[in-house]
Formats: sequence, C-alpha cells, structure tokens
Amino acid sequence: MSDPLEAPGELPPDVAAPGNGAENGPESRDGAGQKREGRLARLRFSKKRDMPGGLWLKCESCASVIFRKELEQKDRVCPSCDFHFTLPGRERVALTLDPGTWVEHYSELAPLDRLKFREKGSYQDKLAAASNRLGQQDALLCGTGEILGRRVALAVLDFSFLGGSMGEVVGEKIALATDLARSEKRAFVVFTASGGARMHEGALSLMQMAKTCAALARLNAAGGFSICVMTHPTTGGVTASFASVCDLVLAEPGALIGFAGPRVIATTLRQELPSGFQRSEFLMQKGMLDAIVSRGTMRQELARLIDYSLGPRAD
Ligand SMILES: [Zn+2]
Repeated sequence: MSDPLEAPGELPPDVAAPGNGAENGPESRDGAGQKREGRLARLRFSKKRDMPGGLWLKCESCASVIFRKELEQKDRVCPSCDFHFTLPGRERVALTLDPGTWVEHYSELAPLDRLKFREKGSYQDKLAAASNRLGQQDALLCGTGEILGRRVALAVLDFSFLGGSMGEVVGEKIALATDLARSEKRAFVVFTASGGARMHEGALSLMQMAKTCAALARLNAAGGFSICVMTHPTTGGVTASFASVCDLVLAEPGALIGFAGPRVIATTLRQELPSGFQRSEFLMQKGMLDAIVSRGTMRQELARLIDYSLGPRAD
C-alpha cells in the first residue's frame, strides 16, 4: 500500500468488512469477445505485480508497461486502455479544484481505538503508520473550494489510508461537510474509493451508514445539492450509504462498484455472473448511475451539473 499507483490492486486485509468484497480473489469467468472485462476482472483483487525499479509500472487492466512519469502526466489514466487508476486523495483534490481555492476543514479529527482492536497488530499502530505516511489523521479529506468558479464543499476518500474505510471520523466529516454545504450554500461533491466499513471500529463504523444518510437528507431538505463520484474501487458500507443517496451519482469508467464482492455473490447464487458485473458500465446499463465521466472532463462536467442545479455562480 506504500505505492498509491498500485493501491487498487488489492484491498488490505485490515479493511475487510462483511460484504466489502475484500475476500474475493480474481474471477474466472472471462469470456471470448470480452477481453477488456476479462482483464479487468482478473486484476480486481489480484496480488501486486513486482516491477523492477520505480520508473515503470504495469497497467492493472491491460498489462502494458507504462512509464510512471507519463502516467502521472495523464492524471493516472492508462495511455493504452484508458484504465483510471485510483488517485491519492490530495491529487484528487488538486485535480478537481481551481488552483489556490482549497481550504481544508476538520483535519484535526482523529480516530479512537475504542475496542482496542487487534488483528495482525493493533489498530492504533496501523492508524499511526498511515497517518505518518500520508500526513493526515484519517481517510477522508474535506474542505471548501471552487470548481471552475462554482463554490463547493468537497469530500474525498483516500483509498491509501486503510483502504478508504469508513469509521467514526469519516462519518463525522461527511456529516460536517454536508453541514458546511448547507450553511454556506455550496454544492456538496464527494469522491469515493473505499473497501467499506472499518471493522476495527465495529458497530460504530456501521452506524456511520445511517449517520451519513441522515446528513444528506438534511442537506436535501434544506434545498442543497449533492453529487457523488464513485471511483475504483467503491464497495461495502460506503456504496450502501452516502455514496448512493446523493442527488446525482456519477462514476469513473471501469470502476469496480458493489456491496458484496463477485465471488461471494457467485458462490451464494450458485451461478455464473454476467460479463462486466459490478463495473461502472454495467451499473449504468442497470440504472444505478446517472453518468460515467472520464477524469479528463470531470471538472467541466461537475461545473455543468452544479449550474444545472443551482444556477451559475450561486454566490
Ligand atoms: Zn492499461
């Protein structure tokens, strides 16, 4: 997990929660004529591939060897197959907002190890390691800024912090960010990348599902506007709560989005899953998403949707 570019290749075992899909291995249902989906399926939760040095890396989707600098210049979108790599939280903020407009809020909120949870080491140690590595207290970054001049309250789940899992702090910050949107009459925009609820916090993490939905309901009742952008991967309790109840639900291309993982579902149902199952394009077909938006046009699209809802320059 030290390399955010390779982060989506596997969910760390410490974020496994019921139904978050982390227990799933690579799928085995590749079909002829479905090469892309097949490749995507194989990579979902496969082990990291060892690549020599730090200059090159292999695309998770098409296995092309990519010059790391080139990938970074393309905002971490594969030049060969358009696969959208998971973005580190702060890169997402920088890519989304107008330069110089970001004001971070509530960064001082830090999680508590109420259960003294241990699983291959203590929760406290894992928090400290992630916090030191990333310079933030928990997985959610939230604050205010502007997207092409439109005022927003922005929340970004950082997958590289314990798999973007949702505990008390993530839930509280989502609630605070929606309150900010409500009181300052800003659009609420949230990007998700998550393994689901944070098992280290037990029932308190599950409670955040209800809490975040209630916060969005308050925003909605006050006439506010919310957009969620689901990115690769968005699973478990995050999919099943605030991510799905925003006014508009967008996704990046090829993102894995689901509650339980495909292998659990296939085993439970005892049948082969359809091609492209739990990918953005599949969910779009089934009416679960409002739009699939590429990273390169995300800012323009968000601005257009905010205008559509609130009128240009709501301030
Ligand atoms: Zn690729």
